[in-house]
Amino acid sequence: MKKTTIKIIYDNCKQNIELQEDWGFSALIEHNHRKILFDTGNNQEIFFSNLGKMGIHLEEITDVIFSHKHKDHITGCKDILEQLQKNSRVYLPKGFPLKKVPQQHLQIQMVTNFIEIDKNIYAMPLKGGFFLNEQCLILDTEKGLVVVTGCAHPGIINIVEAAKKRLNKRIYLLLGGFHLFRKSCHRIDEIVDKMKLLQVEKVAPCHCSGQQAIQQFEKVYNTNFYNVGVGSIITI
Ligand SMILES: [Zn+2]
Ligand SMILES: [Zn+2]
Repeated sequence: MKKTTIKIIYDNCKQNIELQEDWGFSALIEHNHRKILFDTGNNQEIFFSNLGKMGIHLEEITDVIFSHKHKDHITGCKDILEQLQKNSRVYLPKGFPLKKVPQQHLQIQMVTNFIEIDKNIYAMPLKGGFFLNEQCLILDTEKGLVVVTGCAHPGIINIVEAAKKRLNKRIYLLLGGFHLFRKSCHRIDEIVDKMKLLQVEKVAPCHCSGQQAIQQFEKVYNTNFYNVGVGSIITI
């Protein structure tokens, strides 16, 4: 079976000196012959520059999923989507500004419920506040579930609980923005403990997780902690 890989194209944490870090998030997820672009970061120039340096071509992307409509996740949306191959699939969260999306050659879907976008690949939308919907990407792998989050506005614990409940499986890896950068050390401790209790095996916090939370996760998770940022390639 083909390996699953996650390549981080855009992040404010840095893991490769050749690439440029900037506030925002984007990753390419390869699983079961699908190549899924998850978010596009904050600045179009930096996105394309990092993409090129990582040797990723837009023509190879089969699916695009936008986690939520915040600016640091959807840069260059129109330009990027226009360059995709005909019939590429695009999954948008509810409330996404449709004027940013070219309609002609793509298969566009507004995700309002939990859906299987391909074999063992799921999009899970949750409410992240009054007018904000956010979806995460879930892969069902031989090692367990891999959950990729954008900003985790619905709450990282809520996301973990919902994913486990939906698929009735253990979470092997949780990667992305955990949105804990404004949280106190005490609150972060509670969240790390809860994550352990929920049996999340490995964590890779980046983007809006915040340095404090990243350190606290590293301390507790130890060898099951991934230090990730732009340029990281994780193979599962
Ligand atoms: Zn963000
Ligand atoms: Zn956000």
